[in-house]
Amino acid sequence: MIQKDEIDETLESYDKENITVGTLCSHSALNIFYGAKQEGFKTLGICQKERVPYYRAFTAAKPDIFPPEIPSIQKPKDMLEPKFQEILRKHNTIVVPSGSFVAYIGSRNLEDEFSVPMQGNRKVLPWDGEREKQKLWFETAGIKTPKGFEGPEDIDRLCITKFYGAVGGQGFFLATSEKDFYKEIEERNIDPEKTKFTIQEYVLGSRLYSHMHFSPLSKRGLEINEGWLEILGYDQRMESNIDELHRTSLTREQMKKLGIEESFTVVGNRPVIPREKLQMSYYSIGKKIVEASQKLFPPGMLGAFCPETIITKDLEIFTFEITPRIVAGTNMWIPTGSPEGWYTWGEPMSMGRRIAREIKLGIEKDRLEEVVY
Ligand code: AMP
Ligand code: AMP
Repeated sequence: MIQKDEIDETLESYDKENITVGTLCSHSALNIFYGAKQEGFKTLGICQKERVPYYRAFTAAKPDIFPPEIPSIQKPKDMLEPKFQEILRKHNTIVVPSGSFVAYIGSRNLEDEFSVPMQGNRKVLPWDGEREKQKLWFETAGIKTPKGFEGPEDIDRLCITKFYGAVGGQGFFLATSEKDFYKEIEERNIDPEKTKFTIQEYVLGSRLYSHMHFSPLSKRGLEINEGWLEILGYDQRMESNIDELHRTSLTREQMKKLGIEESFTVVGNRPVIPREKLQMSYYSIGKKIVEASQKLFPPGMLGAFCPETIITKDLEIFTFEITPRIVAGTNMWIPTGSPEGWYTWGEPMSMGRRIAREIKLGIEKDRLEEVVY
Protein backbone atom coordinates (compact mmCIF):
# COMPACT_ATOMS: atom_id res chain seq x y z
CA MET A 1 0.00 0.00 0.00
CA ILE A 2 1.36 3.39 -0.94
CA GLN A 3 1.97 5.24 2.28
CA LYS A 4 0.00 8.31 3.26
CA ASP A 5 3.27 10.23 3.93
CA GLU A 6 4.32 9.79 0.32
CA ILE A 7 1.03 11.20 -1.00
CA ASP A 8 1.12 14.03 1.56
CA GLU A 9 4.59 14.96 0.34
CA THR A 10 3.41 15.06 -3.27
CA LEU A 11 0.41 17.11 -2.25
CA GLU A 12 2.69 19.46 -0.34
CA SER A 13 4.73 20.01 -3.51
CA TYR A 14 1.61 20.83 -5.58
CA ASP A 15 0.81 24.40 -6.59
CA LYS A 16 -2.51 24.84 -4.75
CA GLU A 17 -3.54 27.70 -7.03
CA ASN A 18 -3.27 25.36 -9.98
CA ILE A 19 -4.84 22.07 -8.95
CA THR A 20 -6.19 19.90 -11.74
CA VAL A 21 -9.01 17.42 -11.24
CA GLY A 22 -8.48 14.30 -13.34
CA THR A 23 -10.19 11.04 -14.08
CA LEU A 24 -10.55 8.30 -16.67
CA CYS A 25 -12.87 9.28 -19.54
CA SER A 26 -15.67 6.84 -18.78
CA HIS A 27 -18.48 6.14 -16.25
CA SER A 28 -18.99 9.51 -14.49
CA ALA A 29 -16.21 11.55 -16.06
CA LEU A 30 -18.44 14.27 -17.57
CA ASN A 31 -20.12 14.65 -14.18
CA ILE A 32 -16.71 14.98 -12.48
CA PHE A 33 -15.25 17.36 -15.09
CA TYR A 34 -18.28 19.63 -15.25
CA GLY A 35 -18.54 19.82 -11.45
CA ALA A 36 -14.82 20.59 -11.16
CA LYS A 37 -15.16 23.37 -13.73
CA GLN A 38 -18.08 24.83 -11.80
CA GLU A 39 -15.78 25.03 -8.77
CA GLY A 40 -13.04 26.71 -10.81
CA PHE A 41 -10.63 23.79 -11.33
CA LYS A 42 -8.78 22.81 -14.44
CA THR A 43 -9.60 19.28 -15.58
CA LEU A 44 -7.56 16.49 -17.09
CA GLY A 45 -8.85 13.51 -19.04
CA ILE A 46 -7.10 10.17 -19.07
CA CYS A 47 -8.46 9.06 -22.38
CA GLN A 48 -7.84 6.36 -24.92
CA LYS A 49 -7.16 7.84 -28.33
CA GLU A 50 -10.36 6.63 -30.00
CA ARG A 51 -12.50 8.24 -27.29
CA VAL A 52 -10.97 11.74 -27.45
CA PRO A 53 -13.27 13.13 -30.21
CA TYR A 54 -16.35 12.01 -28.28
CA TYR A 55 -15.21 13.60 -25.05
CA ARG A 56 -14.26 16.78 -26.94
CA ALA A 57 -17.78 16.80 -28.40
CA PHE A 58 -19.23 17.79 -25.01
CA THR A 59 -17.80 21.26 -25.35
CA ALA A 60 -18.68 22.60 -21.87
CA ALA A 61 -17.75 19.47 -19.93
CA LYS A 62 -14.73 18.24 -21.86
CA PRO A 63 -11.48 18.08 -19.93
CA ASP A 64 -9.24 21.11 -20.43
CA ILE A 65 -6.20 18.90 -20.78
CA PHE A 66 -5.81 15.66 -22.70
CA PRO A 67 -2.09 15.19 -22.05
CA PRO A 68 -0.72 14.45 -25.52
CA GLU A 69 1.26 11.46 -24.27
CA ILE A 70 -1.70 9.82 -22.56
CA PRO A 71 -3.99 9.14 -25.55
CA SER A 72 -1.38 6.68 -26.66
CA ILE A 73 -2.25 4.35 -23.78
CA GLN A 74 -3.63 1.07 -25.02
CA LYS A 75 -5.62 0.32 -21.89
CA PRO A 76 -6.35 2.14 -18.60
CA LYS A 77 -3.97 -0.18 -16.71
CA ASP A 78 -1.09 1.47 -18.56
CA MET A 79 -1.62 4.41 -16.20
CA LEU A 80 0.32 2.39 -13.63
CA GLU A 81 3.47 3.08 -15.62
CA PRO A 82 5.59 5.60 -13.72
CA LYS A 83 5.99 7.90 -16.75
CA PHE A 84 2.21 8.41 -16.99
CA GLN A 85 1.88 8.97 -13.25
CA GLU A 86 4.59 11.61 -13.52
CA ILE A 87 2.52 13.47 -16.14
CA LEU A 88 -0.42 13.58 -13.74
CA ARG A 89 1.75 14.91 -10.91
CA LYS A 90 3.28 17.50 -13.23
CA HIS A 91 -0.21 18.92 -13.73
CA ASN A 92 -0.87 18.98 -9.93
CA THR A 93 -3.58 16.39 -10.50
CA ILE A 94 -5.92 15.03 -7.89
CA VAL A 95 -7.55 11.95 -9.39
CA VAL A 96 -11.19 11.12 -8.68
CA PRO A 97 -11.50 7.33 -8.69
CA SER A 98 -14.66 6.48 -10.62
CA GLY A 99 -16.25 3.07 -11.21
CA SER A 100 -14.36 2.45 -14.41
CA PHE A 101 -11.11 3.81 -13.04
CA VAL A 102 -11.27 1.24 -10.22
CA ALA A 103 -12.71 -1.59 -12.36
CA TYR A 104 -10.24 -1.27 -15.23
CA ILE A 105 -7.05 -0.52 -13.30
CA GLY A 106 -7.85 -2.72 -10.30
CA SER A 107 -8.23 -1.59 -6.71
CA ARG A 108 -5.18 -3.53 -5.47
CA ASN A 109 -3.04 -2.03 -8.24
CA LEU A 110 -4.22 1.46 -7.37
CA GLU A 111 -3.53 0.89 -3.72
CA ASP A 112 -0.01 -0.39 -4.27
CA GLU A 113 1.29 1.20 -7.44
CA PHE A 114 -0.53 4.43 -8.18
CA SER A 115 1.33 7.16 -6.36
CA VAL A 116 -0.78 10.10 -7.50
CA PRO A 117 -3.00 11.87 -4.93
CA MET A 118 -6.58 10.61 -5.12
CA GLN A 119 -9.67 12.25 -3.67
CA GLY A 120 -10.96 10.29 -0.64
CA ASN A 121 -9.38 7.54 1.43
CA ARG A 122 -7.26 5.13 -0.62
CA LYS A 123 -7.81 2.46 2.05
CA VAL A 124 -11.44 2.14 0.94
CA LEU A 125 -10.49 0.78 -2.51
CA PRO A 126 -10.36 -2.94 -1.67
CA TRP A 127 -13.81 -2.65 -0.07
CA ASP A 128 -15.28 -1.86 -3.51
CA GLY A 129 -16.88 -5.04 -4.82
CA GLU A 130 -15.05 -7.51 -2.55
CA ARG A 131 -17.90 -9.51 -1.14
CA GLU A 132 -16.24 -10.76 2.10
CA LYS A 133 -15.17 -7.24 2.95
CA GLN A 134 -18.66 -5.94 2.19
CA LYS A 135 -20.08 -8.60 4.53
CA LEU A 136 -17.80 -7.48 7.34
CA TRP A 137 -18.78 -3.86 6.70
CA PHE A 138 -22.52 -4.73 6.86
CA GLU A 139 -22.03 -6.73 10.07
CA THR A 140 -20.00 -3.99 11.74
CA ALA A 141 -22.60 -1.41 10.71
CA GLY A 142 -25.47 -3.61 11.92
CA ILE A 143 -27.65 -2.88 8.91
CA LYS A 144 -30.15 -5.25 7.30
CA THR A 145 -28.77 -7.17 4.34
CA PRO A 146 -30.12 -10.00 2.18
CA LYS A 147 -29.35 -13.42 3.64
CA GLY A 148 -26.14 -14.87 2.22
CA PHE A 149 -25.66 -18.56 1.34
CA GLU A 150 -22.37 -20.42 1.80
CA GLY A 151 -22.83 -22.57 -1.29
CA PRO A 152 -25.37 -23.71 -3.89
CA GLU A 153 -26.32 -26.69 -1.70
CA ASP A 154 -27.90 -24.26 0.81
CA ILE A 155 -30.24 -22.57 -1.66
CA ASP A 156 -33.80 -22.89 -0.31
CA ARG A 157 -35.52 -19.85 -1.88
CA LEU A 158 -35.18 -17.44 -4.80
CA CYS A 159 -31.52 -16.44 -4.86
CA ILE A 160 -29.28 -14.23 -6.97
CA THR A 161 -25.73 -15.31 -7.87
CA LYS A 162 -23.35 -12.39 -8.25
CA PHE A 163 -19.82 -12.23 -9.53
CA TYR A 164 -16.97 -10.24 -8.03
CA GLY A 165 -15.79 -6.76 -8.91
CA ALA A 166 -17.56 -3.69 -10.24
CA VAL A 167 -19.12 -5.55 -13.15
CA GLY A 168 -22.44 -3.72 -13.18
CA GLY A 169 -24.65 -6.78 -12.80
CA GLN A 170 -23.29 -8.51 -15.88
CA GLY A 171 -23.97 -12.25 -15.95
CA PHE A 172 -25.84 -12.38 -12.63
CA PHE A 173 -28.58 -15.00 -12.52
CA LEU A 174 -31.46 -16.26 -10.40
CA ALA A 175 -31.94 -19.78 -9.08
CA THR A 176 -34.38 -21.42 -6.68
CA SER A 177 -32.50 -24.63 -5.85
CA GLU A 178 -29.08 -26.30 -6.05
CA LYS A 179 -30.17 -28.15 -9.20
CA ASP A 180 -31.34 -24.93 -10.77
CA PHE A 181 -28.01 -23.28 -9.88
CA TYR A 182 -25.88 -25.95 -11.58
CA LYS A 183 -28.11 -25.92 -14.64
CA GLU A 184 -27.60 -22.16 -14.97
CA ILE A 185 -23.85 -22.48 -14.43
CA GLU A 186 -23.65 -25.13 -17.14
CA GLU A 187 -25.75 -23.19 -19.60
CA ARG A 188 -23.62 -20.12 -19.06
CA ASN A 189 -20.35 -22.02 -19.39
CA ILE A 190 -19.15 -20.90 -15.98
CA ASP A 191 -16.58 -22.92 -14.08
CA PRO A 192 -17.64 -22.56 -10.41
CA GLU A 193 -14.17 -23.65 -9.28
CA LYS A 194 -12.47 -20.82 -11.13
CA THR A 195 -15.01 -18.05 -10.71
CA LYS A 196 -15.56 -16.02 -7.56
CA PHE A 197 -19.23 -15.51 -6.82
CA THR A 198 -21.62 -14.98 -3.97
CA ILE A 199 -25.17 -16.26 -3.49
CA GLN A 200 -27.75 -14.02 -1.85
CA GLU A 201 -31.43 -14.22 -1.11
CA TYR A 202 -33.25 -12.27 -3.85
CA VAL A 203 -35.13 -9.52 -2.02
CA LEU A 204 -38.34 -8.52 -3.71
CA GLY A 205 -39.14 -4.82 -3.51
CA SER A 206 -38.23 -1.45 -4.98
CA ARG A 207 -34.56 -0.89 -5.64
CA LEU A 208 -33.19 2.44 -4.50
CA TYR A 209 -29.60 3.62 -4.87
CA SER A 210 -28.83 6.39 -2.38
CA HIS A 211 -26.10 8.91 -3.07
CA MET A 212 -24.21 10.10 -0.02
CA HIS A 213 -21.15 12.15 0.79
CA PHE A 214 -19.18 12.25 4.03
CA SER A 215 -16.96 15.20 4.84
CA PRO A 216 -14.80 16.25 7.78
CA LEU A 217 -15.00 19.82 6.47
CA SER A 218 -18.44 20.87 5.27
CA LYS A 219 -20.55 21.52 8.39
CA ARG A 220 -23.64 20.69 6.33
CA GLY A 221 -25.78 17.59 6.65
CA LEU A 222 -26.00 15.19 9.59
CA GLU A 223 -23.16 15.54 12.09
CA ILE A 224 -21.34 12.30 12.89
CA ASN A 225 -18.09 12.10 14.85
CA GLU A 226 -16.79 15.52 13.80
CA GLY A 227 -17.86 15.01 10.21
CA TRP A 228 -20.97 15.61 8.13
CA LEU A 229 -23.05 13.17 6.16
CA GLU A 230 -25.06 14.50 3.24
CA ILE A 231 -27.65 12.77 1.09
CA LEU A 232 -27.41 14.14 -2.43
CA GLY A 233 -30.08 12.16 -4.23
CA TYR A 234 -31.43 8.77 -5.20
CA ASP A 235 -31.72 6.89 -8.45
CA GLN A 236 -32.93 3.65 -9.83
CA ARG A 237 -30.83 1.76 -12.33
CA MET A 238 -32.16 0.53 -15.60
CA GLU A 239 -31.03 -3.06 -15.93
CA SER A 240 -31.36 -5.02 -19.12
CA ASN A 241 -33.20 -7.31 -19.53
CA ILE A 242 -34.52 -8.02 -16.02
CA ASP A 243 -36.53 -4.75 -15.85
CA GLU A 244 -38.57 -5.62 -18.90
CA LEU A 245 -38.98 -9.39 -18.59
CA HIS A 246 -42.34 -9.13 -16.82
CA ARG A 247 -43.80 -7.51 -19.95
CA THR A 248 -43.41 -10.78 -21.81
CA SER A 249 -45.43 -12.74 -19.17
CA LEU A 250 -43.18 -15.72 -19.90
CA THR A 251 -42.81 -18.40 -17.24
CA ARG A 252 -39.30 -19.54 -16.34
CA GLU A 253 -39.94 -22.73 -18.26
CA GLN A 254 -40.98 -20.83 -21.38
CA MET A 255 -37.92 -18.60 -21.04
CA LYS A 256 -35.69 -21.65 -20.91
CA LYS A 257 -37.31 -23.13 -24.00
CA LEU A 258 -36.77 -19.89 -25.89
CA GLY A 259 -33.20 -19.59 -24.67
CA ILE A 260 -33.91 -16.31 -22.83
CA GLU A 261 -31.71 -15.67 -19.81
CA GLU A 262 -32.38 -12.95 -17.27
CA SER A 263 -29.55 -10.45 -16.93
CA PHE A 264 -28.80 -7.40 -14.79
CA THR A 265 -26.62 -5.35 -17.14
CA VAL A 266 -26.73 -1.68 -16.20
CA VAL A 267 -27.71 0.53 -19.12
CA GLY A 268 -28.74 3.80 -17.48
CA ASN A 269 -30.30 5.53 -14.51
CA ARG A 270 -33.42 7.44 -13.61
CA PRO A 271 -33.91 9.86 -10.72
CA VAL A 272 -36.13 8.93 -7.79
CA ILE A 273 -37.55 10.94 -4.94
CA PRO A 274 -38.44 8.62 -2.06
CA ARG A 275 -41.26 9.02 0.44
CA GLU A 276 -40.09 11.71 2.81
CA LYS A 277 -40.03 9.54 5.93
CA LEU A 278 -37.60 7.22 4.16
CA GLN A 279 -35.03 10.04 4.10
CA MET A 280 -34.57 9.46 7.83
CA SER A 281 -34.11 5.74 7.35
CA TYR A 282 -31.47 6.43 4.71
CA TYR A 283 -29.64 8.92 6.92
CA SER A 284 -29.62 6.25 9.62
CA ILE A 285 -28.18 3.63 7.23
CA GLY A 286 -25.54 6.10 6.00
CA LYS A 287 -24.58 6.98 9.56
CA LYS A 288 -24.06 3.33 10.51
CA ILE A 289 -21.99 2.75 7.36
CA VAL A 290 -19.75 5.74 8.10
CA GLU A 291 -19.28 4.78 11.76
CA ALA A 292 -18.39 1.20 10.80
CA SER A 293 -15.90 2.44 8.18
CA GLN A 294 -14.16 4.55 10.80
CA LYS A 295 -13.61 1.39 12.88
CA LEU A 296 -12.62 -0.83 9.94
CA PHE A 297 -10.29 1.42 7.96
CA PRO A 298 -9.68 4.72 9.76
CA PRO A 299 -10.24 7.56 8.98
CA GLY A 300 -13.01 5.68 7.15
CA MET A 301 -15.35 6.60 4.35
CA LEU A 302 -14.58 10.03 2.88
CA GLY A 303 -16.35 11.63 -0.05
CA ALA A 304 -18.98 9.97 -2.23
CA PHE A 305 -20.51 6.57 -1.54
CA CYS A 306 -23.69 4.70 -2.34
CA PRO A 307 -25.69 2.26 -0.23
CA GLU A 308 -27.55 0.13 -2.78
CA THR A 309 -30.84 -1.00 -1.32
CA ILE A 310 -34.17 -2.69 -1.80
CA ILE A 311 -37.30 -1.56 0.07
CA THR A 312 -39.83 -4.31 0.70
CA LYS A 313 -43.60 -3.86 0.81
CA ASP A 314 -43.31 -3.55 4.63
CA LEU A 315 -40.85 -0.66 4.16
CA GLU A 316 -37.94 -2.72 5.42
CA ILE A 317 -34.71 -1.58 3.78
CA PHE A 318 -32.11 -4.16 2.79
CA THR A 319 -28.66 -2.94 1.74
CA PHE A 320 -27.10 -5.37 -0.73
CA GLU A 321 -23.97 -3.41 -1.56
CA ILE A 322 -22.01 -0.34 -0.49
CA THR A 323 -20.19 1.33 -3.34
CA PRO A 324 -17.48 3.42 -1.68
CA ARG A 325 -17.01 6.05 -4.42
CA ILE A 326 -18.96 8.12 -6.94
CA VAL A 327 -21.50 5.99 -8.81
CA ALA A 328 -22.84 6.76 -12.26
CA GLY A 329 -26.35 7.07 -10.85
CA THR A 330 -25.39 10.62 -9.87
CA ASN A 331 -24.84 11.61 -13.52
CA MET A 332 -28.32 12.99 -14.06
CA TRP A 333 -28.02 15.89 -11.62
CA ILE A 334 -25.59 17.92 -13.67
CA PRO A 335 -26.32 20.81 -13.64
CA THR A 336 -29.73 20.99 -11.93
CA GLY A 337 -28.87 19.21 -8.71
CA SER A 338 -31.18 16.81 -6.85
CA PRO A 339 -33.85 18.01 -4.40
CA GLU A 340 -31.70 16.75 -1.52
CA GLY A 341 -28.71 18.68 -2.86
CA TRP A 342 -30.80 21.84 -2.95
CA TYR A 343 -32.15 21.23 0.57
CA THR A 344 -28.59 20.87 1.88
CA TRP A 345 -26.73 23.53 -0.11
CA GLY A 346 -29.41 25.92 -1.40
CA GLU A 347 -27.81 25.64 -4.81
CA PRO A 348 -27.52 22.87 -7.41
CA MET A 349 -25.09 20.34 -5.98
CA SER A 350 -24.29 17.41 -8.22
CA MET A 351 -21.88 14.76 -6.97
CA GLY A 352 -19.17 15.89 -9.38
CA ARG A 353 -19.47 19.42 -8.06
CA ARG A 354 -19.63 18.19 -4.45
CA ILE A 355 -16.36 16.30 -4.85
CA ALA A 356 -14.71 19.39 -6.32
CA ARG A 357 -16.21 21.53 -3.51
CA GLU A 358 -14.55 19.23 -0.98
CA ILE A 359 -11.16 19.70 -2.65
CA LYS A 360 -11.79 23.46 -2.66
CA LEU A 361 -12.75 23.45 1.03
CA GLY A 362 -9.60 21.45 1.77
CA ILE A 363 -7.45 24.05 0.02
CA GLU A 364 -9.24 27.00 1.65
CA LYS A 365 -8.98 25.51 5.14
CA ASP A 366 -5.45 24.22 4.55
CA ARG A 367 -6.72 20.69 5.31
CA LEU A 368 -6.44 19.12 1.87
CA GLU A 369 -4.49 16.14 3.20
CA GLU A 370 -7.56 15.12 5.25
CA VAL A 371 -9.64 14.51 2.13
CA VAL A 372 -6.99 13.31 -0.31
CA TYR A 373 -4.88 10.11 -0.13
P1 AMP B 1 -18.01 1.78 -17.98
O1 AMP B 1 -16.88 2.75 -17.88
O2 AMP B 1 -19.29 2.38 -18.51
O3 AMP B 1 -17.60 0.53 -18.72
O4 AMP B 1 -18.36 1.32 -16.49
C1 AMP B 1 -17.41 0.86 -15.55
C2 AMP B 1 -18.11 0.04 -14.49
O5 AMP B 1 -19.14 0.79 -13.85
C3 AMP B 1 -18.80 -1.18 -15.08
O6 AMP B 1 -18.68 -2.22 -14.15
C4 AMP B 1 -20.22 -0.74 -15.26
O7 AMP B 1 -21.12 -1.81 -15.24
C5 AMP B 1 -20.42 0.21 -14.08
N1 AMP B 1 -21.35 1.26 -14.49
C6 AMP B 1 -21.22 2.04 -15.58
N2 AMP B 1 -22.25 2.89 -15.71
C7 AMP B 1 -23.05 2.62 -14.67
C8 AMP B 1 -24.29 3.17 -14.25
N3 AMP B 1 -24.90 4.13 -14.95
N4 AMP B 1 -24.83 2.71 -13.10
C9 AMP B 1 -24.21 1.73 -12.42
N5 AMP B 1 -23.05 1.16 -12.77
C10 AMP B 1 -22.48 1.59 -13.89
P1 AMP C 1 -24.70 -5.40 -7.51
O1 AMP C 1 -23.57 -5.80 -8.42
O2 AMP C 1 -24.59 -6.01 -6.15
O3 AMP C 1 -24.83 -3.90 -7.51
O4 AMP C 1 -26.04 -5.96 -8.15
C1 AMP C 1 -26.46 -5.69 -9.48
C2 AMP C 1 -27.95 -5.74 -9.56
O5 AMP C 1 -28.48 -7.00 -9.15
C3 AMP C 1 -28.65 -4.74 -8.65
O6 AMP C 1 -28.71 -3.48 -9.22
C4 AMP C 1 -30.01 -5.37 -8.43
O7 AMP C 1 -30.88 -5.16 -9.50
C5 AMP C 1 -29.69 -6.84 -8.42
N1 AMP C 1 -29.49 -7.36 -7.05
C6 AMP C 1 -28.30 -7.49 -6.42
N2 AMP C 1 -28.48 -8.09 -5.20
C7 AMP C 1 -29.80 -8.32 -5.07
C8 AMP C 1 -30.60 -8.94 -4.06
N3 AMP C 1 -30.06 -9.46 -2.97
N4 AMP C 1 -31.93 -9.02 -4.27
C9 AMP C 1 -32.49 -8.55 -5.42
N5 AMP C 1 -31.78 -7.97 -6.41
C10 AMP C 1 -30.45 -7.85 -6.26
